[in-house]
Amino acid sequence: MSIDLSQFRDEVVSSILIRGQVEREGIDFNGRRIKFLKPIGYEGEIYRVDGEKLLYLEIFYRYKEDCGRCLEPFIRDDSTTITAKLSMKPEELVEDEDEDIIYYTDDRLNLQDHIIDTIILFLPMKPLCGDDCKGLCPKCGTNHNKEKCDCVVEDIDPRLEKLKEFFSDK
Ligand SMILES: [Zn+2]
Ligand SMILES: [Zn+2]
Repeated sequence: MSIDLSQFRDEVVSSILIRGQVEREGIDFNGRRIKFLKPIGYEGEIYRVDGEKLLYLEIFYRYKEDCGRCLEPFIRDDSTTITAKLSMKPEELVEDEDEDIIYYTDDRLNLQDHIIDTIILFLPMKPLCGDDCKGLCPKCGTNHNKEKCDCVVEDIDPRLEKLKEFFSDK
């Protein structure tokens, strides 16, 4: 994908509408595997405001991932946004942590990497098929969302566990 910014050379143009899709099979990161079930959609606008170019972009995606608790795959539809200032890439890049700047060269803007990075940032820390996922039995591995088992699992408060470890060292 490449967006042509040369339209802004015309002073009358105050905004450019953008819309499209990014084809991407999936993302692997931190031992996680996200599989996209359809192309990632994006839709937004680049505005010219006081000589600056500002981007507002909505991103839509459907993905499949394995639940971190019960290990079953689940499918989710989600959306997020990118807001950033666009700037011509300078000779020497000065890192400015305070501002979200996306650089472009020769009036061409490529947002693909930014779209993927934004999705990664927006993903939940821990993938869950649902907030109420009961997970697997730590003893027999039965998926407690589907059936019960007769295992007796000692339910130890993690804080108490720490205390127990502490005293057993003495
Ligand atoms: Zn689950
Ligand atoms: Zn069990």
